[in-house]
Amino acid sequence: MLQIDRRHRLVGDEVSYQATPNIGGVLRPRWLVLHYTAGRSLESSVASLCTRKPAGNASAHVVLGRDGRIVQLAPFNVVTWHAGVSSWEGVTGLNAHSIGIEMDNAGALDEIGGRHFTWFRQEVPAAEVQIAAHRHGGARRGWHAYTGAQIERALELAELLVTRYGLEDVLGHEDIAPGRKTDPGPAFPLEAIRARVAGREADTLGRWVVEAGALNIRRGPGSQYEPVAPPLVRGTAVLMIEPGSRFSRVEVLGSTDLEGWVANDYLRPAATAATPRSTTVRRSRRPTPAEMPADAPGAAAEPAAKAARRARRRTPAGE
Ligand SMILES: [Zn+2]
Repeated sequence: MLQIDRRHRLVGDEVSYQATPNIGGVLRPRWLVLHYTAGRSLESSVASLCTRKPAGNASAHVVLGRDGRIVQLAPFNVVTWHAGVSSWEGVTGLNAHSIGIEMDNAGALDEIGGRHFTWFRQEVPAAEVQIAAHRHGGARRGWHAYTGAQIERALELAELLVTRYGLEDVLGHEDIAPGRKTDPGPAFPLEAIRARVAGREADTLGRWVVEAGALNIRRGPGSQYEPVAPPLVRGTAVLMIEPGSRFSRVEVLGSTDLEGWVANDYLRPAATAATPRSTTVRRSRRPTPAEMPADAPGAAAEPAAKAARRARRRTPAGE
C-alpha cells in the first residue's frame, strides 16, 4: 500500500527516490496532471528529468514504469516543471498549481507497412498497440498501450494524492494544453480514473476554511489541550484528516507540516470541497457566545449569507 510521509514523499513497495535539480518553489497543489513520457524506458526518462540542460529543463514529481515501479523526483509540496504553457479554469501556468505524474509510454506510433513504430524507430508488438482517434481530433492511429500494472498503480496514486492534498480534479496534459499536447492520449483510461477518484473524493472530508477571526489549533480534541501554534487566522485553508464530533484534526494547507485539532464550529467548507457529512461535522449549530473565547479568540462566526457570498467570490471564473 502506498502512503505519503511528512516530508511529502511516497512510501511503499517498488518506490524509490531520485532528486531532480529541476524544481521551483513551494507548491500548494490544486490538480493532478497525468502525462506520458514519450521515452524509451523508465530509467531513460528519469535520467532526462533529473538532468540540468542548457534549455528546455523538465521534471515531474513521479515517473511511473510499465511494471508499476515508481520513481519520485521531488516532494509533492515543491513545484516541478511538467506542464509548460497551460491553463485550467482561468488559472495559467499549471506547474505552480499541480502535481505531475509521468508514465513510461512511447505515445503516438507511426504505421509503416502494417507495423507500428515509436518515434525513435523501435517496433511495438501488435499486442501493445491501441488504435484510436484522440478526443481532441485527428485521424485514428496507433498509440502505445499502457500496461495493467501501470494503470492500477496510476489509479492508486491518483486516489492517494487527491485525498492527501484535497485536489480538485485529475487532468491530462492534453486538457491543460490542448492543441499543443496529446498526452496521456486515448490509450489511457483518464475518464475512468477521474470518475473513480471523484467518487472517492466525495467520501473524503476535503478542504475547509477558518471562518473565525482567529482559531486555536490544539494538541488534542478539546479546549483543555494546549495550542500547538499561534491561532489560525480567518480564511486559512485546512484539510480535514480526522473528523470528530466537536473537534477535528486538520492539516494547515501551505504550511510546513502544521497539524492539530480545531473546533468544528469555526470551519466552513471551501468552495470546492465535497458536501460535508452533517453527522460528523455539525454545520448547522451556531456557537454560543460563551464558547467563543475558548476557541475563536478573535471574532464571532459571520452570518451564513455573508459566508455564502464570500464562498461564491472564491470560486474561480471559467475560461
Ligand atoms: Zn506531458
